[in-house]
Amino acid sequence: TDKDLLKKDQKHFLHPTSNPKQQAKSGASIVLRRGQGIYLEDIEGKRYIDGLSSLWNVNVGHGNKELAQTAFEQMETLAYASSFKGYSNPSAINLSEKLAEIAPNGLNSVFFTSGGSESNDTAFKLSRFYWEQVGKPEKKKIIALERSYHGVTIGAQSATHLPAFHAFSGSHMNDVYHAVPHLTDCERGNKDADHYERSIRGVIEREGKETVAAVIIEPIQGAGGIYVPPAGYLEAVRKLCNEYDIHFIADEVICGFGRTGSMFAVEHWDVVPDFMSVAKGITSGYAQLGGVLIHDKIRKVINDFDGVLAHGFTYSGHAMACAVGLKNIEIIERDGLVDRAKEMGEYFGDRLEELVTKHTSVGLTRGMGLLRSIELFKDSKSFERFDPQDNAAEKLYQHCFDRGLLVRTSGGNGINIIPLAPPLIISQPEIDELIERFSAGITAFEAEL
Ligand code: PLP
Repeated sequence: TDKDLLKKDQKHFLHPTSNPKQQAKSGASIVLRRGQGIYLEDIEGKRYIDGLSSLWNVNVGHGNKELAQTAFEQMETLAYASSFKGYSNPSAINLSEKLAEIAPNGLNSVFFTSGGSESNDTAFKLSRFYWEQVGKPEKKKIIALERSYHGVTIGAQSATHLPAFHAFSGSHMNDVYHAVPHLTDCERGNKDADHYERSIRGVIEREGKETVAAVIIEPIQGAGGIYVPPAGYLEAVRKLCNEYDIHFIADEVICGFGRTGSMFAVEHWDVVPDFMSVAKGITSGYAQLGGVLIHDKIRKVINDFDGVLAHGFTYSGHAMACAVGLKNIEIIERDGLVDRAKEMGEYFGDRLEELVTKHTSVGLTRGMGLLRSIELFKDSKSFERFDPQDNAAEKLYQHCFDRGLLVRTSGGNGINIIPLAPPLIISQPEIDELIERFSAGITAFEAEL
């Protein structure tokens, strides 16, 4: 029965990124059993709009039969075989070729992982490996941005800046530094600009360029609250990395595979990174897969290494996951989901803008394509923030939940953000329905203030 399920959940399933005390007391907040398109259904039959594509990954929507069929056929033929010791399989080979075809020029090989955190750790290791191979072993430091999220394995988590992810003692990797995001002027070299010393350029100069391996950036910051960089920023960082001989790692784990209205977000700024981490939308969440795309100039140095590159995961190049990834990209291309994300994203952005006018607590909306957010304020005219104890975003989250809309919260410390990222297949009437539920949630939230 449903009650039995909840009891078993409470007892045996320790939930990721959740409140254990709350779970121990009252169990799962929701048990989802079915999904179709933009909708999810819980075990009691209540339907929800998946306003975040689950964890920003279900790009083609739930219940896609073509992906299910592809997984079935691949599992029947060969679900999995090792890719260590030079072993390979057709799905991994074909997906790696497809990724090279759709990625920015020069990113022609991939190292497969099982998700985004592993991809970022792999990028850090390969970057350091490269510098060692070219006789610069002291280049080890990684620079990430404040407000960033790069995952939770020890390397990725050290690059993550969001404070909640640093609650585990002893789990910080050395040689990781953070810089203030989006300071275009500083990155261009204007030493008089505000926060120069805490910019990427300032941190490189303080630490010494001969000690820095790589800069890692989400082209659009996701979990931190959806922050689009100002015009010229990513181009300035690319130039800065060239100037100081430092790798540029683009973390496209959320942004990739159409989410922002281009296949990869770096294309909006015509920037080619040295490494590009992908995961999530690569399979639309239908299988666990990630990868690091590697630029030819890095691959060339790796190719000169005549030993065992002792890095790899059991599931690197997983046959079923790669077959699903390939079919998923085929669907994204065939159904024009990248253009659709752009077009529907503009409509969605306009509808969110209406909420800024309609609701006194909604101060602004940000984003690109179908990756957007709104920010709440106690007084949206003066941008006065809520008290941190008010837990405003959490309260709004609950009102949305009660009205059948699943979203999430970002911010903390008085900053209250609700990110929204529905599946790329969302239609205009479905966006209207999402906005209707969201607006009703905001009205209830404001009535409670
Ligand atoms: N990088 C970014 C930008 C992410 O948003 C995430 C997950 O949300 C990750 C990395 C980590 O990915 P995973 O949870 O698959 O390890």
